[in-house]
Amino acid sequence: MKSNRREFLKLAAVSAMGVGAARLGFLGDAPAFAGPLPTAADFEKGFKAKHWGMAVFSAKFTPELIEKCRTACHTEHNVPDIPGKKQIKWFWGASYHEAFPTEQGQFLSEDVEHREFPLLCNHCEQPMCVRVCPTQATFQRPDGIVMMDFHRCIGCRYCMAGCPFGARSFNFQDPRPFIHNFNPHYPTRMRGVVEKCDFCAERLAIGKLPVCVEAAGGALVFGDLGDENSDIRKVLREHFAIRRKPDAGTSPSVYYIL
Ligand code: SF4
Ligand code: SF4
Repeated sequence: MKSNRREFLKLAAVSAMGVGAARLGFLGDAPAFAGPLPTAADFEKGFKAKHWGMAVFSAKFTPELIEKCRTACHTEHNVPDIPGKKQIKWFWGASYHEAFPTEQGQFLSEDVEHREFPLLCNHCEQPMCVRVCPTQATFQRPDGIVMMDFHRCIGCRYCMAGCPFGARSFNFQDPRPFIHNFNPHYPTRMRGVVEKCDFCAERLAIGKLPVCVEAAGGALVFGDLGDENSDIRKVLREHFAIRRKPDAGTSPSVYYIL
């Protein structure tokens, strides 16, 4: 009986994703990459962690690899392709000085000086965005992922002002006409809603790694920071890593190996 109820709840969650897509956007024909909707059996394979985090082997990143990861992320999550100041960013690239403005780095190696760093939401342990949101549209899960409930967002943009990393984007206009490869498994958003990286929570739930991690071919390591035997903890034991803007006091869960 218990198991039936669990199955039901999982299927309900899948259906809810579809309803969310219908309410927030449109449901069109599934592109070839979309595949079938996840089943209750897929949810049995879901990944769990005490605290999800990411390590970035920054020296492995070229502008081409950043673009590959960006495209994978933005396609998966129906991120609209809007040029200029109204751009929506979940995954993007930046110079060392943009990424780490509070690091001294006066005499940087040429390699680091000219490197492009991949950026995304840091899923901070002390997320300022969560603290200032008046509707709990942005919230922190027990496993550390900082999520958005698009339905609850009233577009006040307090979270954007609160985030020291520019990790959030605001939909100044209807984003749907700017989506080129619609993924029917992920909700689209509407004008007046804030969005950002969700650490691919919807993929972790069915036992898949974040899509940027898959695209990065070993340049991104994703795992449980709360498990000392995890791959990410091993990587962080063996390599010196820094985090963005430590002075902001948010304690990012994304680590950069220089
Ligand atoms: S990077 Fe910004 S949006 Fe992401 S959790 Fe930290 S404060 Fe929030
Ligand atoms: S973890 Fe997922 S949502 Fe976040 S940047 Fe990577 S692909 Fe995009």
